[in-house]
Amino acid sequence: MKKLFIANRGEIALRIIRTARELGIETVLAVSEADKESTPARMSDSVAEVGPSSATKSYLSRESMLDAVLRSGADAVHPGYGFLSEDARFAQAVVDAGLTWVGPSPESIRLMGDKAAAREAARAAGVPVMNGSDGVVETIDDLEAAADRVGFPLLIKAAAGGGGRGIRIVRTADALEHEYTVASAEAASAFGDGSVYLERYITRARHVEVQILGDGKRAIHLFDRDCSMQRRQQKVVEEAPAANVPDDVREQMFKASVRLAQACGYKGAGTVEFLYDVDQRAVFFIEMNTRLQVEHPVTEMITGIDLVREQLRIADGNELQLSQNDIVARGHAIEVRLCAEDSERNFMPSPGLIQSVMWPAGPGVRIDSGVAAGSTVSPYYDSMLAKLIVWNSDRSSAISRLQRALNELEIAGLATTQKFLSSLISSLDFYEFSHHTKFIEESFFAE
Ligand code: ADP
Ligand code: ADP
Ligand code: MG
Repeated sequence: MKKLFIANRGEIALRIIRTARELGIETVLAVSEADKESTPARMSDSVAEVGPSSATKSYLSRESMLDAVLRSGADAVHPGYGFLSEDARFAQAVVDAGLTWVGPSPESIRLMGDKAAAREAARAAGVPVMNGSDGVVETIDDLEAAADRVGFPLLIKAAAGGGGRGIRIVRTADALEHEYTVASAEAASAFGDGSVYLERYITRARHVEVQILGDGKRAIHLFDRDCSMQRRQQKVVEEAPAANVPDDVREQMFKASVRLAQACGYKGAGTVEFLYDVDQRAVFFIEMNTRLQVEHPVTEMITGIDLVREQLRIADGNELQLSQNDIVARGHAIEVRLCAEDSERNFMPSPGLIQSVMWPAGPGVRIDSGVAAGSTVSPYYDSMLAKLIVWNSDRSSAISRLQRALNELEIAGLATTQKFLSSLISSLDFYEFSHHTKFIEESFFAE
């Protein structure tokens, strides 16, 4: 691999550029009209224009992106997360053009991208799967039979869903048919696929997930992460390890995740997501993400392994150099996602010019960001400005360090979620590691 095309933007683009540079790989970064002057654009060896600011016409356009890839003379494509990263057709087009796709095979992406099919694959690999419908619910008869088995409350989930979207709760049988109709219509318009399935709704759940690396023959895990601090099913704070789950349950979850990766000949980095049912003291598979995750840095901090480097090595045809025993977790890492949103005004997006910024620094602090003073945060894309990640020898000292670092942060020109994050990580529930996925809604927005 000599020249890497990065089909993404923002912090993850810069994250990938940094590792590529360390490996002596040249980079070409896709840029939309709005991103021509971005920090990652300045940092990349070169840029390739992919179209207008609107994401659907640039970063999400398979045709424009592929065209830019071919023009660039790159020999490999890294998709980052989001956008085309889980688009099997894009991955296939890259492979068909004789280029290296930095990610699992199009078949793996397709299998796991259909969340109903992924549940079946996980079950077949002996992974404990959340009780739910057998595959997609096609008819009202199917719906009623599945709901009878699952019980209420239950969730209707879009098979093609992602980013916390396409999930609806149904509390009683009389609402079932109506919710099903609405959920299918919404899924069809949001994801271009109206398929939905049912899942038991866990009222007190923790989100725990396992980082996987595979080379097509062998797979290993890099421990777990807890991402239970969520708002509207989207992660806000993530940490590693997920030490709030009993050791025997974690061990079982690691084994199951490796089995699943092995069973599908998984190649690259991936994440197997579970919910931990606090009352049942058990984990259940919900989905697998076939890409680098937003929260991958916390795993890097506790293992000392550069996940992007491993992705590039594997994509380049190398076998995993690491064996399971080489992976040792040390200390504790926590990440918060800082967004350009006004947390006092219902998280309204607040695009605009960053007049000045002072990032926190010092021992055990890492900032992954794609912006700097003078950057304009555009309204076209995700509002995440930066990820602030800290490491320390244990969880409570990591929390103190995170509080210290968040207090150091000074950003002027637009509203951010800084204060909201400070109050989250200072809450007693967080300190006691006893929060669950509905904590923010219940504690901060209780009506
Ligand atoms: P992850 O699944 O990696 O933990 P989330 O569930 O929070 O991340 O986000 C889901 C998806 O939202 C990501 O895979 C990506 O599609 C999109 N997303 C989040 N942040 C960004 C961003 N800064 N730029 C582009 N897409 C993003
Ligand atoms: P996405 O593909 O959008 O990431 P997931 O299936 O991973 O969707 O679920 C996202 C979040 O939604 C979970 O982390 C959890 O907070 C909530 N959730 C999903 N399934 C369930 C469930 N069966 N019970 C309770 N909460 C759930
Ligand atoms: Mg998920």
